Amino acid sequence: MTDFVPYFSSLILKQFHCSAVLSVSLLLGLTTQLIFPLSPFRGSPGPLSVLPSFGFLFDIDGVLVRGKTPIPAARTAFRKLVNSQGQFLVPVVFVTNAGNCLRQEKADQLSHLLGISQDQVMMSHSPLRMFKRYHEKCVLVSGQGPLLDIAQDLGFCQPITIDTLREKRPLLDAVDHDRRPSILVGVDFSVVLFGEPVRWETSLQLIIDVLLTSGYPGNPYEQENYPHIPVLACNMDLMWVAEAQSPRFGHGTFMVCLENIYKKITGKELKYEALMGKPSRLTYQYAEHLIRAQALQRSWEQPIQTLYAVGDNLMTDVYGANLYNRYLEESLRWEKELASAAAAHCRSVLVCTGVYNPHTEVPLDTRDSIAETVFHGHRDFRFDPGLVEPDHIVPDVDAAVDLVFQLENFAPN
Ligand SMILES: [Mg+2]
Repeated sequence: MTDFVPYFSSLILKQFHCSAVLSVSLLLGLTTQLIFPLSPFRGSPGPLSVLPSFGFLFDIDGVLVRGKTPIPAARTAFRKLVNSQGQFLVPVVFVTNAGNCLRQEKADQLSHLLGISQDQVMMSHSPLRMFKRYHEKCVLVSGQGPLLDIAQDLGFCQPITIDTLREKRPLLDAVDHDRRPSILVGVDFSVVLFGEPVRWETSLQLIIDVLLTSGYPGNPYEQENYPHIPVLACNMDLMWVAEAQSPRFGHGTFMVCLENIYKKITGKELKYEALMGKPSRLTYQYAEHLIRAQALQRSWEQPIQTLYAVGDNLMTDVYGANLYNRYLEESLRWEKELASAAAAHCRSVLVCTGVYNPHTEVPLDTRDSIAETVFHGHRDFRFDPGLVEPDHIVPDVDAAVDLVFQLENFAPN
């Protein structure tokens, strides 16, 4: 099962696309605070803070860029986040579900906005660094981009790609056991899904082969091999936005194919040893760890109390932030007598520059709308209306920064 919280079979419900932000509230009874550029902000009374007791988790696609094109508000927002020496005034981590490149490459992609270090970038696969028990094992890696570099950078010693497996397992090898590649060691074999591959049919075929043969894809399928060998998956996004008007297939779509093919063939559920990337709790825990490391490095002594997660996707960014907030607040209740290092809250801030579209027409009958829309989250995450309710909705990332500074009474020198 997954490492973290909820996994339940798919519930059919929604990704909201409502005609106006107000309509979101009408549909689901949201109590979201709506913020637009000229609205007065509701700041907490109290003295102005010059040191941060909060941190930002910024999504990248749909918040800072669309494809390779910067979103204009990102430049304005970033000017507010740094001092005259170009140093960040608050801890900032860029949390993306992208997984087909190294952190440095993603940092370089943002260099047109600001000089950021790879230590501030968190990819969907970053938490795999903590899965040391798999690092010595032979892992089949699926995705595209520099997969071996990514896997080795994360600590995996014996990664092999789908292409390598295809080359090493031509048809003859299926009957000649002596020619079975020595890198396939059965019991210690596992599968890591980094991101959407190209030529899906090849990856789907070979991953199914590996799962149904416990790592010996030349052997016949053995239905009794269940539970199958471990599968770790990064990035569950069904869709994402680039320059095209409509969202594009994400890795979540590939996973839907794999899960359904496995189930159709075996009658059983494909199980994940771990799912990472937003909205998994694991991802937010790791991002918080990076936020604290930055605060420590800058000798900011105030504890980080609140994380603000700014994103464009209800099922990913908002759901994940709210799920983590629920975890933090429950932990706080149980552990309030202990000196906990964790933040107290994680607040979700939804922007309207990406996947979330506040201008989609609302059906006249809202009950139909809820029944007819579908849950775009992953199979193993339960739909919960409370988890897709953003704490704040703003037009863009610049308004998000203004809002948070106001809420925190933050006035850096
Ligand atoms: Mg996004």
